[in-house]
Amino acid sequence: MHYSKEEISVIDEARVFGDLPISISNKNKLEDLNDEAIPNHIKDAVQHDELEHREFIDTEFWKELPVFKNVSREEFYDFKFQNKFTVRNIAKLEEYTEGLIDPSFIENVKRGMEKAPMNLSLSPYILSLINWEDPYNDPLRIQFVPIDSGFKPDHPKLSLDSLGEQQDSPVDGLVHRYFDKVLFLPLDVCSVYCRFCTRSYAIGGNTDSVDKKRFKNAPDKWKKAFAYIASRPEIEDVVISGGDAYMLAPSRLRMIGEVLLDIPHVRRMRFASKGPAVMPMKILTDNAWTEALIDIVKSGRERGKEVVLHTHFNSANEITDITRKAMLHLFQNGVTVRNQSVLIKGVNDTIDSMIHLVRKLSYMNVQPYYVYQHDMVTGTEDMRTSVRQTVELEKSVRGVTAGFNTPLFVTDAPGGGGKRDVHSFDYYDKVTGISIYRSPSVDDSKLYIYFDPIDTLPIEGQKLWEDESVHDDLIQNAINNSGFTSLTLYYKCMYWIMSYLAPTF
Ligand code: SF4
Repeated sequence: MHYSKEEISVIDEARVFGDLPISISNKNKLEDLNDEAIPNHIKDAVQHDELEHREFIDTEFWKELPVFKNVSREEFYDFKFQNKFTVRNIAKLEEYTEGLIDPSFIENVKRGMEKAPMNLSLSPYILSLINWEDPYNDPLRIQFVPIDSGFKPDHPKLSLDSLGEQQDSPVDGLVHRYFDKVLFLPLDVCSVYCRFCTRSYAIGGNTDSVDKKRFKNAPDKWKKAFAYIASRPEIEDVVISGGDAYMLAPSRLRMIGEVLLDIPHVRRMRFASKGPAVMPMKILTDNAWTEALIDIVKSGRERGKEVVLHTHFNSANEITDITRKAMLHLFQNGVTVRNQSVLIKGVNDTIDSMIHLVRKLSYMNVQPYYVYQHDMVTGTEDMRTSVRQTVELEKSVRGVTAGFNTPLFVTDAPGGGGKRDVHSFDYYDKVTGISIYRSPSVDDSKLYIYFDPIDTLPIEGQKLWEDESVHDDLIQNAINNSGFTSLTLYYKCMYWIMSYLAPTF
């Protein structure tokens, strides 16, 4: 059907006044469009790979691992199967990957585990999605399995608690940093352990190299945290993390939700879990857990309060048709899911990989909310990117989809400054890799510093960090150049520097 110019102007007018003379049957609205002339295209034809994010693996991919070759779809979807066959040590990893990988890789992992701040824990789902023909470059292996040959020397300013959470903790397992928000950490275990965990100081049990500060996974201990929240009328927002809320028994998940919803000033709650990325089938088969979550969300909505799930996908390789079904189930039951990625070298640090992830999440109605600059955590130097790279990546991602589905790229300011837009630094020296942030809403008297990984710096910058005696000068020069010399450097690892340089801070 073609319209004359006059007819088009009549139709435009009708559109404005809501009186469009188009009749579309109720039967199949798309069929009525078949007769329509297709308007001239103003964009090039779309390429197949631009829509790849709509494809979800629906094969029995786990059967490629000999150990799971006889596992049925029903069994693999069962969260109890996933828990039971989670790999928690190298011997199991060796057993489950026998015949698939060169023994030298296992030796490499053994040596890597001696240095790693996190223990090994791999769900069958993740284990099956790793490309064992090339484990060295696989984005899931990089996240969860340390290898000795991958380690790089730590930047001298890395630490296990780079965000300084412990110093903002009024009671065990509670962090109160922002005015109206707290972070409640009811447990210290997860379904998998991420090598880069920002809470390496506490999560997942002791390793060869780290004695951890354990959180208390017991309701009687949580009461102190609840009492603190109830006593502070400014707290409207509670993040329940850990560890991983996925590991809470349904009755405990429900109890936490109900207690917090009962506190009148608590208006928003976020349950944080990497679970959907590493064991999505739990949402489909652990009915008691999923129902508990859905009930809390509904109960919150009835009271005018928001309860959502925040998850943690880092790579499109973590997403299969099981994930799609799980996210659909939550969506259809009114659960909002937002995603917080960590930017990791070799995982999601290219424009294509990040755009692909953002589109895939959006397609599943998971809102890509944050991409974090990798925290400055000990033992993770091979995974960090520079601020310069992150700013460039942000520029390329912004605009590829709707704004509400475009993640904010943030630096969690080391030492406790909270989240800062990665490009909002007050000073950045690409040679030394020092960026300086202020965080007036957290503390307007402090400066926060992020250090780029040394191997990403130009040669002259790398040379500067070789000489330990000039490190303090590099930092002081950066502060002088920032113009904020009257503010105090607030960085946990630098108290000694502060006292050494006290007159100038
Ligand atoms: S799931 Fe979260 S808390 Fe657990 S190891 Fe990974 S990053 Fe840390």
